[in-house]
Amino acid sequence: MFLYRSRLVAVAIVLGVTGAVAAVPASAASQPTPGSEGPAGPPALMPNGRVALAPQVTAPVISTGCPAAPYGARSYAPGSGKTVALTFDDGPGPSTAGILSTLASYRIPATFFNIGQNMAARPGLVAQETSMGFMLGNHTWDHPDMTTLSASAQASEMDRASAEQKSLTGIAPCAFRPPYGNYNSTTLSLAQQRRMSLWTWSVDTEDWKANGSSSSYWVNRIISLAESEGGVLQHPVVLMHNAPSGDPATVLALPTIIRYFRDHGYTFVDLYGRTSRLTADVAAATSTDRALYTNEGQGWRKLGGTLLSAPAVTVINGEPYYFGVSTDHNVWVRTDRLGWRKFGPSYTNCASSPGVTFSGGRLYLACTGPDRRLWATSTTVTPGTLPYVSTGFSNFGGSVGSSPAVAAVGSKVTFFVDGPGGIVYTRTPSTGWAARGWRCMSPPAAAASASGTGATFACIGTDHNLWYEPYTTSRGWYGTSHLGPPSAEGFSAGVLGVDANVERFDVTGASSSRVYTRTPGTAWTSLSGATIGGVALASP
Ligand SMILES: [Zn+2]
Repeated sequence: MFLYRSRLVAVAIVLGVTGAVAAVPASAASQPTPGSEGPAGPPALMPNGRVALAPQVTAPVISTGCPAAPYGARSYAPGSGKTVALTFDDGPGPSTAGILSTLASYRIPATFFNIGQNMAARPGLVAQETSMGFMLGNHTWDHPDMTTLSASAQASEMDRASAEQKSLTGIAPCAFRPPYGNYNSTTLSLAQQRRMSLWTWSVDTEDWKANGSSSSYWVNRIISLAESEGGVLQHPVVLMHNAPSGDPATVLALPTIIRYFRDHGYTFVDLYGRTSRLTADVAAATSTDRALYTNEGQGWRKLGGTLLSAPAVTVINGEPYYFGVSTDHNVWVRTDRLGWRKFGPSYTNCASSPGVTFSGGRLYLACTGPDRRLWATSTTVTPGTLPYVSTGFSNFGGSVGSSPAVAAVGSKVTFFVDGPGGIVYTRTPSTGWAARGWRCMSPPAAAASASGTGATFACIGTDHNLWYEPYTTSRGWYGTSHLGPPSAEGFSAGVLGVDANVERFDVTGASSSRVYTRTPGTAWTSLSGATIGGVALASP
């Protein structure tokens, strides 16, 4: 059955390139010399028709969340085996959205070296790059040749761009790329002091020379330079562009370039060295061995730990953050890169599975206490670190039957609980309790869409069907629907996870405790594996 199909995820259109690839120019096989990056072209304009004013910076902007930066320039991709790093400079621009959708459809990471004044003019694209988990680097405020500038002017170019990125995304850049690949010892020192690694490249596609053309001559030239220069290297860093003047040939060449490296055994990385940017939904569950498991569409992967009940998961900057109450009754948090950490000083607030959401740059976590009241806390998350709450939880009262769910509904963080008699109640941190008029036999589940304008509430009804209701800022809550049970077994009263963005529902079945998944229009399928409690879902 198809339901509210208008919100089905759009399938990214991959632009194919046909026709023979042009012969490789003899000169293209030699290594490019730094300095061959072209001009960035005219800057993007603000809505008022002017170039953005630089932010006032009165002190060096140090990227404190980044690893210590080495002194010197790097031009080869990190990682073992054969790795390739695709990099896109001078944006954001009109080609950025096409590049993002192609990268998303191939599920690969990449790095964007944005120009400060272009970020200020196109903040929505910067937000999209960040929310999709791409790495952003500093490419100066307005693209000067750094070697022509004084030390203080070079510093200001770096700091203005870092300040702009930080104000737009909350994340400071860990990488710096000097325009034209030109730098001197001053540039190297200033970048290192700011904890930014200085990156040039090892493959120059010369895509900027297409000068806005989308002709097959330019598309094929970009492809052949990427393949001929990159294919002979173990760790190529490929230079491409998404400038305000537009790089349509780059967008058209990209799928062929990606398939070339993929088919020649390369792993795609960003300049952090991350091999995967989360592009699939992530399901998390606690198995009967009490360990945390994750499933990103390719089977369950054990993450360890010993949990009392179902975990929670949310995605921050492309990385899944898992939360669970351990056998020591403390809340623990984990990412693949950073491992486990206790979420705060020893608490005994959580007698239930946690509910989490990440909204407006803050992480919100709620659980039901041993006193059956709702307890919740929130904190900012510094990139590269695990969140830690030292101030404790707040008591929001109520009389809660099981685990709460948390989601941003119309930009308001909202808690969903099952109250007395299985009636679902909501409250926000600033308002009181309200009955939602639902009766559920499972704990409630709720999720907000990535756009922040929609949410979905769901639970297993007393008729054993999975019931859900979407919310949008324009329509409010509208139209309850239900999906039948996944098997003749019916449901347990376990937790159920919902993702509003792709309308995916995962539930735990009754006697087998298996996880079942479906999206509207598909049948229930088993993800296999027995669980304790329910399954949590998050999307990138
Ligand atoms: Zn540039």
